[in-house]
Amino acid sequence: MITYLRQRKQLVPASCLALAFIIFSFMWLLADNASAVAVIVDGKTQFLAASIQDVQQTLRQIEAEKEAQVNLDLELSNELEFKEVFALHSKLTPNDQMAALLEQSVCFDAVAATIVVNGKAVASLLDEEQALQLVERFKTDFAKLDQGEKLLQLGFEEQVEVVCGRVPFEKICTPEQAYDLISTGTLNPEKYIVQAGDNLWLIARRNDTYVEDIKQANHLTSENLSLGQELIVVKSKPLLTVVAQVEGAKVEAIPYETQVVVDAGAAASVRVREQGSEGERKITYQAVKKNGVISDRQVTSEEIIKNPVARVLVKGSQVVQVASRGSSGISKGVLDWPVYGPISQYFRAGHRAIDITGKVGTALHASGSGYVVEAGWNGGYGKTIVIDHGNGYSTRYAHCNSLSVSVGQKVSRGQTIAALGNTGRSTGPHCHFEVIYNGTAVNPLSVLK
Ligand SMILES: [Zn+2]
Repeated sequence: MITYLRQRKQLVPASCLALAFIIFSFMWLLADNASAVAVIVDGKTQFLAASIQDVQQTLRQIEAEKEAQVNLDLELSNELEFKEVFALHSKLTPNDQMAALLEQSVCFDAVAATIVVNGKAVASLLDEEQALQLVERFKTDFAKLDQGEKLLQLGFEEQVEVVCGRVPFEKICTPEQAYDLISTGTLNPEKYIVQAGDNLWLIARRNDTYVEDIKQANHLTSENLSLGQELIVVKSKPLLTVVAQVEGAKVEAIPYETQVVVDAGAAASVRVREQGSEGERKITYQAVKKNGVISDRQVTSEEIIKNPVARVLVKGSQVVQVASRGSSGISKGVLDWPVYGPISQYFRAGHRAIDITGKVGTALHASGSGYVVEAGWNGGYGKTIVIDHGNGYSTRYAHCNSLSVSVGQKVSRGQTIAALGNTGRSTGPHCHFEVIYNGTAVNPLSVLK
């Protein structure tokens, strides 16, 4: 009995101690915990704060500062939620750190006028008037009328509209920025560092752009580059196409015919007996221009001022008339593709040809019948063939691997003249195909079948 009582007396203080410990721990926890709010931005918990008021006040301060900076009426664009939680004091974000956290997770919108091209937002401006003015300015600038041309109609190839609404305020640009953006397609042009062995032509090819564009973007007056020089590489492609219908009058050259005197027994060489000279004619025309480049032209009247004098090449005893000068004008389908393959470069300023890619050795065919007027190495063009088709047309096939015709040779449409290659200033196998009409390179796609 005594033993039992003693045991009980010892047991009571032990359980009291345990209970006291639990209560003490609980109170200690209570003392270090507090009710708090979880700040949720667009469904994602960002941090814990002591009170909603603290967060909202900080947010108002940020908004006011930004509004003062950009002089715009801003509005929070995120969805902001608060959830009451119970958290350790140490987990709460102090007020002085809250601004930085909020700035990382929220953004602000402002009312702007956005230029939308084929359903895609292109540039946002402060108001509708600015946006409309910019669209009109671009239209006028990119019509690019030549002397003596009268505008009949002006518009865009794309569907262009100005839409007013809220956009992130950082996206609002000045009219100058928007103009550059629409003209070049980018606000952040890439940089290129000149390396040993580089030249503008190679840099342009590697960056899928054009020598003239690089020169213009970097205000280069010569093609001399220095090692380590930083170049802006603008892949200048306007986001809009201005379509201008024009009426014009001008005096232009009439191409001369080429006659070849063929001597079957002679070596493949040609002597010029008569240089030939261009004629002159006064024409009126109507044309469709896309960003200043003629895409379609109809001659409406013609007055011959001076007749051309034929060029005579001597290679034998027989005189062959290449082709009679019929009605002139660029027409679709007069020439055949020299080779079929993906086009890696299109015709434009700085690249007055198309590049058709293919395997080295693939046969290249004459685009039309005519006479070979050039066959051999020609600097950056590498191994090159030029065929005079008469009617003012010639075609050039550059970077060939091998040539199978010689100067003075008559070729028929579709005849194999060379093999596709990678000679000269070329960074990959392709045929650089040029169409020259009346001495000017024209877009091959406008005359190919
Ligand atoms: Zn080319």
